[in-house]
Parts: sequence; structure tokens; C-alpha cells
Amino acid sequence: MGEQPLRGVSAAPGVASGKAVVLDRVGAHEVRILPLDSRAAELDQARHALEVVATEMEHIASGLRDAGRNEEADIVETGVLMAGDPELFARVESLVMKSGRPAGDALREAADESAQELAQLGDSLFAERADDVRSLGRRAAARANGYEPGVISGVIIASTLGPADVAELAMNAKGVALAGGGVTAHAAIVARSLGVPMVVGLGGDVLDVGDGEEVVLDGDDGVLFRYPDRARIAAARAEADRRHAARQSAVVHRLEPAQTKDGHRLHVLANATSVAEIVEALAQGAEGVGLLRTELLYLDARGWPTEAQHASFLKLILASLAGHVATVRLLDFGGDKTPPFLKGAEHRGIELLLDSPDALKTQLGAIVAAGADTKLRILIPMVTSPDQVRAVHEVLGSVLRGRPAPQVGAMIETPEAARRAGEIADVSDFLSIGTNDLTQLVLGLDREHSKSAPVTDVRVLRLIDATVRAGRAAGIPVDVCGEAASDERAMPILVGLGVDELSVAAARVGEVRKWVRGLDFAACRDSSRALLLDQPADAAGKGV
Ligand code: PEP
Ligand code: MG
Repeated sequence: MGEQPLRGVSAAPGVASGKAVVLDRVGAHEVRILPLDSRAAELDQARHALEVVATEMEHIASGLRDAGRNEEADIVETGVLMAGDPELFARVESLVMKSGRPAGDALREAADESAQELAQLGDSLFAERADDVRSLGRRAAARANGYEPGVISGVIIASTLGPADVAELAMNAKGVALAGGGVTAHAAIVARSLGVPMVVGLGGDVLDVGDGEEVVLDGDDGVLFRYPDRARIAAARAEADRRHAARQSAVVHRLEPAQTKDGHRLHVLANATSVAEIVEALAQGAEGVGLLRTELLYLDARGWPTEAQHASFLKLILASLAGHVATVRLLDFGGDKTPPFLKGAEHRGIELLLDSPDALKTQLGAIVAAGADTKLRILIPMVTSPDQVRAVHEVLGSVLRGRPAPQVGAMIETPEAARRAGEIADVSDFLSIGTNDLTQLVLGLDREHSKSAPVTDVRVLRLIDATVRAGRAAGIPVDVCGEAASDERAMPILVGLGVDELSVAAARVGEVRKWVRGLDFAACRDSSRALLLDQPADAAGKGV
């Protein structure tokens, strides 16, 4: 059979060849019913998946106990009990035997039903357990569909995935191909951060790919090839080897400063959500973390995270950043990062947090306690006014209890913030430009489904320029932590506009540092100035 290309949109660069691991065998609206004679075997598969997950969790819990982390071990052990819960299994049994649902779907649906019942009890402790049951269902479903954690070496195919799913499932995968999704959605950001090639928007046909079928995923051009010929497979492998070599070279050059040819020094930090990303970023020479997205962990949450939940995540992450810059962003819920308990909320980012001052205080207290050994900075998302920064300072003051105050920075990612950058800079210790939201908001695009992110549109560049000038006037550094900082075309323009720090996808730290060393700062400045004189064009026509 000849090659069959399925075309989508590039969401994370890189090329991968391997066997397809199909997580959603059927389209979102299609329900697969198993024939009667195959249901008993399917139920055995579901039972086995639950046993495998229970064993995995036992291992994780005993590892935590050995490391003296009893509190976390207790939490993981409740997952072991849930996996053996007879009520959960009775639901799975009914879904498989009576309704003919495949094992993976039955596990996910049964867990969702149990979770919903727990959540309806209205107690916050039960609500947390509900999230755990859901996560257990997802894990078991993945095992039933043939996915083994840590040894998956294929190309994941699914209808859509959330950012947390990508973080968990794609860590060791060769690539991700989605029927839906958008390039600027957070799932794509996590894939880029992990260095996993990703193509989105492939349409329902991609779900017809057979489990175990050999495919080539071209994350640069946004294509998935079915039945790839030998030359395509060989080229994909050669490209993967080239990227591997580039990563090795980044590690070798990690101690060389990120300095342009004419001596202009920049700071390159990493965006991260997991310890794995931080370890990778530091190995490639990152000077710390410029954006720790804290909200991605809580996208299934039924209530605001508790201090213990914040602490267990932050302690682990910040321990890996001792002595380094650790920029912890406050919970940025809203848009494609809205957990169930906030569905329908009017505000997002800091405005939403200020509506729940206890939640803000709880998170600030946990950050300050966990970040004592780092060069701690706190970053405020979706700022629109200097009063919001003042409000955070005030709450922060109430949790310090004699400890040194961390720096507090404002994200400039709304047009309002860019217009008021001077006032915001006056009450901030640093500014961080979020080009992802800024671009979408300035140009009126839909972030979750958008097929391009034209940050080089002059309307966006002028706001970035105004922000850098405001930072200069206030004598504070200006960082860019949006995706544009790791884009080969956009990054020199940002440098030319005078930003001081670039916070980039963890997997790209070495590459960005290398690009900086190849730049001429004076030339970048001239080109960026010239670009600011452009007339606004149709946003859709200019893609970065
Ligand atoms: C941004 O908007 O550019 C940003 C860095 O924040 P996030 O992508 O998490 O919304
Ligand atoms: Mg943002």
C-alpha cells in the first residue's frame, strides 16, 4: 500500500517514527459495542489493568516511604485501595458485560461515575478523592489500551488530550497526534516543553489508524504518514538522531554564557511544570525557571488546592531548583485551564484569585515555605492593573513570618497590562511578557483552536516595546515567557526590542542559548526598530 498522509497542524516540532498507540479507538460520537462472545475476555483485561495500576502505586508508595515521605505515600496508597474497590469493579463489570463497552472506556466511565457520586457528597475531602478516582480510571484505561508507563515508545494517537494527560502519557512517547486540539492550547505547550513532536487538528480519520501500525509523525510540517515507505522511515530516524546529537551538544555547551557576538548578555531560563523538565533544562544550561505553571496539576480539581496539596507539589519541584531562580506563577485558572469547580466563573488569573483571598493566601504561604533554598520569585498571571500587584504584596506580607520577601513580578499578557505597563512596573520587581495570551487577545484569536500565533504582528510588537520601555524606566528586568521566546524567527526580534530574559520550553534551552550566541545585538535592534514602523496587516496572514 502506498503512503497515506493525514494533514493537520504542527503543534510541537520534531519527527518521529514508531508504532501507533491509539488511546481513543473510536471517535467522540461513535460508541463501540463489543460482541457478546468477546466480553468476558474484555472484562479480564479490565481486571488486569486495575491490578497493574494497583501494583504500580504500591511501588511508588514504598519508594516514597523509603525516602521518608510518609504523607505522600499515604495518599498514593489510597489509590491502591481504590483500584481494589469492589463497587468500582461492579460498575466496570456491568459496563463491559451488559453494555458491551471496551475495557478502556468502561474503566474510564466507571471511575467517572464513582467520582461524580463522591463529588456530590459536598465534602471537600471526598471531592479530592473524586479527582483521585478519575485519575485512577484514566491510568487503568491507558493500561487496558496497551500503554505501559515508562516503556511506551510509540506515537500516541487520541481525539484530544489535556495538558496533564500529555505530561503523564507523553513523557516517554515518540510523538502525539490528535484529531482535535489547537497549537496554542496548553497540551501543545507541554509537548513542546518535553520535546515531544505533536500534530493537532488531524480530524477523525486519524482514529482509524490501527494500534501497533507503523507511522511517521512530522511535527515540523504537521503531517502523520500512514504506511510510510522505507525512505520516509529512514529520514525520520536520521532526523531524530540529529536532534539527539543537538541535545548532546547543548549539554556540552551548557556553561557557555548566552551572549550575542557583540557582547550583549541575556538570561535563558525554562518554563516547567515537572521535575523532569527542570532536570532537562538545567542539563542544557538554564539559569533557573522563569515560569512554573502551578495550575496544570489541578485541572480536574473540585475545589481550591489545599496547603498540603500545594506543598507536596512545590517541595518536590523547588528542591530541584536549590540555588537557582525559581519563578512560581500563582494559579492561572481560566480559558482551557478551568477546573470543574470554576466552570462558569467570570474572571480568570489574578482577578479570580483575588475573588478567593483564602486560596491566594494558602498558595503564597506554601510557595514561601517551599522555596526557602531557591532564588524565589512570584509571578502574577493575567494582571490588568497595579492594584492587583499591590494586593498580592499585601497578602504576601501576611504569610512571610520573618522570612525574606521574594521578588514579585507581573505578567504582561493582556492589552490592558501592556497599556498600563509603566504603572505596573512601578509596583513590581520584574515584568514577564506572556506572548501567548497577548497575541491572541490583541488580534482577537481563539487560543484553543487557533492554527497560528502571529506574535510578529506590529500591533503585538508595539505592546512588547512599550512594556520593555516601562521596565527600563522603572529599572527592573523584563522577561518573555511566552512561546515566542523559543521561536527561531521571533526570538531575535524580542532581543532587538531589549528584553533581558528569555524563559523557554525546557527541551529547547540549549538551542535557544546557541541561537543567542549566533546573534548580533546591534543588527537585531535595527531590524526590530524597523519592524515597529510597519503598518498593521491582516493578523491571519502572518504566522509565527
Ligand atoms: C502566555 O500567555 O504567554 C503565558 C506564558 O502563559 P500561559 O501560556 O500559561 O497562559
Ligand atoms: Mg498566559
